[in-house]
Amino acid sequence: MPKPTQLAKQISASPTIAMNDKAKQLAAEGHSVIGLAGGEPDFDTPPHIVEAAVKAFKDGETRYAAPSKGIRPLLEAIAVKTERDSKVRVDPMSDIIVTPGGKLALFLALKAMLDPGDEVLIPAPYWVSYPSVAVMVGGVPVPIETGSDDNYRLRLEHLRAHVTERTKAIIINSPCNPTGHMLSSEEIESVATLALESDLYIISDEIYEKLNFDGRPAVSLASIPEIADRVIIINGMSKAYAMTGWRLGWLAGPSEVIGVAGKFNSQTATSAATFTQHAAVAALNGPQDCVELMRAAYQERRDFMVESFNSIPNMSCPDIEGAFYAFPKVDATAKTSEEVANTILEEAVVVGVPGSAFGITKDAHIRFSFAEDMNKLKQAVERIGAMAHLLA
Ligand code: PMP
Ligand code: GLU
Repeated sequence: MPKPTQLAKQISASPTIAMNDKAKQLAAEGHSVIGLAGGEPDFDTPPHIVEAAVKAFKDGETRYAAPSKGIRPLLEAIAVKTERDSKVRVDPMSDIIVTPGGKLALFLALKAMLDPGDEVLIPAPYWVSYPSVAVMVGGVPVPIETGSDDNYRLRLEHLRAHVTERTKAIIINSPCNPTGHMLSSEEIESVATLALESDLYIISDEIYEKLNFDGRPAVSLASIPEIADRVIIINGMSKAYAMTGWRLGWLAGPSEVIGVAGKFNSQTATSAATFTQHAAVAALNGPQDCVELMRAAYQERRDFMVESFNSIPNMSCPDIEGAFYAFPKVDATAKTSEEVANTILEEAVVVGVPGSAFGITKDAHIRFSFAEDMNKLKQAVERIGAMAHLLA
C-alpha cells in the first residue's frame, strides 16, 4: 500500500482546534463544561456586515471572485487600511492577496518564501500553526524560547544565536497569541537589525492588532522604512470583526513574494468566497465602533482574568497587553503543562490548551481564551481556584 507523506510524522492536527472540539463534544454529552480553548470571539458578527453579505447573495455575487486575488473594492479597502494602521503603502493590485482565512495567508507566505530545507525563526511562545505550516511547505521551523520571567522579550543576541546559512525568515506576532505580548520599540529594532544583517524576510502576523489594551497601539514592523520591503503582513477579519467562520484573510507586502503567493493561491483556493469579500468591504469601510465595543469588553475581561489568576495561591499571570488569551503559569509544580490541563479538565471541567502546544517546555503554562462572556469566565476561575491545590 502507498503511504501518506513522511512530513505527516512531524506535525499534528491543530491542538487549539482539537481542544475546542473536545469542549464542544463534552457539552453535547451533557457535561457542564466551560470551553476556553479556542480563540474565537463570543460576539456575533456585527449586523451591518451580515447585511452586506445578504445583499451580495441577492445581487448574485456567488461566482468565482475576479480577480482571483481579491475583488477590487476589497483590495483597495485593505490598501487604505494597511497604510493607516501599519504605516506602509501597498499597491492594491500587486501587493495583496485575499485568502480564505489568515491561516491560508500564512501558508502561502511561507510557501512563497521557502525552498526545501530553509529555516524559519519562530519565537516561542508561538501560535500553534507556525511550526506545522513551516514543515508543510518543506521548511524547517527553529523555535526560540523566551520566558515569562523576562516578559517574553526578544533579545537580539538570543535571536542571532539561532541564525544559520539556511535562515530565510522570522515570524513575529504582535500582539501575541498566546501571551498578549506586544513588541516594544527596542524589540522592533532588534528584529529589524537581525533581518538586515542576516538578509531575512519578516512575517508580521497582525491579526490581533485592533485588540490592544490601555491605549497602547500595536506598531507594525512594516512601518520601519529600512525593512518595509522585506515584511509580509498577515491579517484577517476573524478576530477584530468576530468573523471566524467567514474565512477571510490576506497577505500584503513586496510584489515579488505576493506574485508567487498569488500563483499558489490561484492553483489552490482560487479565491476567498465572493459574498464574504463583499462583507469584508462593509466591515473595513463601515463604522468601527463595533470593533471598539468588543475591544473594550476584552479589556475588562483581561483585568478580571489577570487579577483572578494572581489571587490563586500557586498560579501567576503577567499583565496582558493585547489579544484575548490569559497564559498563567502554575508555580513550583512537578506537573507538565499537559498534566495541568488534564487535571483542570477533570477536576474543574474547564478546557484550556497546555503551554507545550505553544512551544513552552520550561514551565507549566496553560492558555485560556477570554473571548467568552464574563459569567462563564467567573465560573471558570472560581472552579479552578477551588481545585488549584491539586496542581502542585
Ligand atoms: N494568526 C494567529 C496568531 C491566530 O491566532 C489566528 C487564529 N486562528 C490566525 C492567524 C488565523 O486566523 P484565521 O485563519 O481565522 O484568519
Ligand atoms: N487562532 C485561534 C486559536 O489559537 C483559533 C484556532 C486556530 O486556528 O488555531 O485558538
